[in-house]
Amino acid sequence: MRNTHVTIDLSALAHNLHIAKQHAPNAKLMAMVKANAYGHGASECLPALQSADALGVACLAEAKTLQQAGWKKPIILLEGAFSLDEWQYCLTNGLQCVVHHAEQLDWALQHPAKQPSNTPIWLKLNTGMNRLGFGEAEILPIAKQLSAIGYPLILTSHFANADIKNHPQNQQQIHCFERILSELKQQVSPKVEGSLCNSAGIVNFTEHQHDWVRAGIMLYGATPIGNKSAEQLNLRAVMRFGASIMAVHELDKGDCVGYGSRWQATEPCQIGIVSVGYADGYPRVINDNAYVVATLNEKTVRLPIIGRVAMDMLMVAIPANTDVTLHTSIQLWGDKLPIDHVADWNATISYELLCLVTKRPTWRYTFD
Ligand SMILES: *Cc1c(COP(=O)(O)O)cnc(C)c1O
Repeated sequence: MRNTHVTIDLSALAHNLHIAKQHAPNAKLMAMVKANAYGHGASECLPALQSADALGVACLAEAKTLQQAGWKKPIILLEGAFSLDEWQYCLTNGLQCVVHHAEQLDWALQHPAKQPSNTPIWLKLNTGMNRLGFGEAEILPIAKQLSAIGYPLILTSHFANADIKNHPQNQQQIHCFERILSELKQQVSPKVEGSLCNSAGIVNFTEHQHDWVRAGIMLYGATPIGNKSAEQLNLRAVMRFGASIMAVHELDKGDCVGYGSRWQATEPCQIGIVSVGYADGYPRVINDNAYVVATLNEKTVRLPIIGRVAMDMLMVAIPANTDVTLHTSIQLWGDKLPIDHVADWNATISYELLCLVTKRPTWRYTFD
């Protein structure tokens, strides 16, 4: 069988959740499992997320999957309802919605729960990201209206630059959020809660965690911030993406490799063909620093990627005096090679690589 596999280490996920909670000891934690848990398989990840206080998803379909998988604690739809039907479904089924624009507000005001309900609304404030949310000038009357018909409220907002601690916009967003939150506590209800921090905020802005934090990428073991690695934050890779050497060739000086003949041997050398390509989710466009690793006699050996990554295969240079042979196991990212490096070579972020791994490799879950 073609040896291309994804292993999801649920103990690493549980470990990272524990680390996130240590960073935010006084807040409740929403584990972000949108986009099928950043590509890891949301339902399959639930056993490792039992100590989370809630789950965050993008939309109703994702929430339904989690309820069907047996999750009983709160689920929050970060984009809220997309229709009146969805809004009413959420109310009757105890799903919590973000309300971020006028149409959703109308649904909430005109179709409240029939009985008094303790399902809160996550009221979205735009503090400068300019993606979703009500402006600071309009939020107070909205909060008053929602509160008057019985909805508990959680004020929420999202950072645009939390990965760069000193970015000037962070302080502006924090200031705006906290000013509005205290206004709502004074003028609407002292019970209004707040939620501002994603993973980067959890690490960089410990003083501003309020009632709920929303941990995403750090749970999956990639770094949320620019200046510290996952290892420095004591986060463990959850996904291990692997394949193996399916052919070995000797090349002469001047021989070219792969589509477009992009790589040419400057001396006689040995190359290996690895059984993974962009149809499995390895990015096609990577720069010349890119490598994969093999673990031989407990030592990690780097094998530079040469030539274009193809649909089903990629090619690597086999360094002289290493024991890389046919069938040697290769890791593309995981515990031996941080995904953050691969993201850098591909001019993207770990989030995107994780989400784009396909169903084609063999998937396994471990929890020890
Ligand atoms: C995805 C998301 C998060 C989690 O972000 P990470 O950077 O992965 O921690 C938090 N809040 C909102 C609104 C999100 O959409």
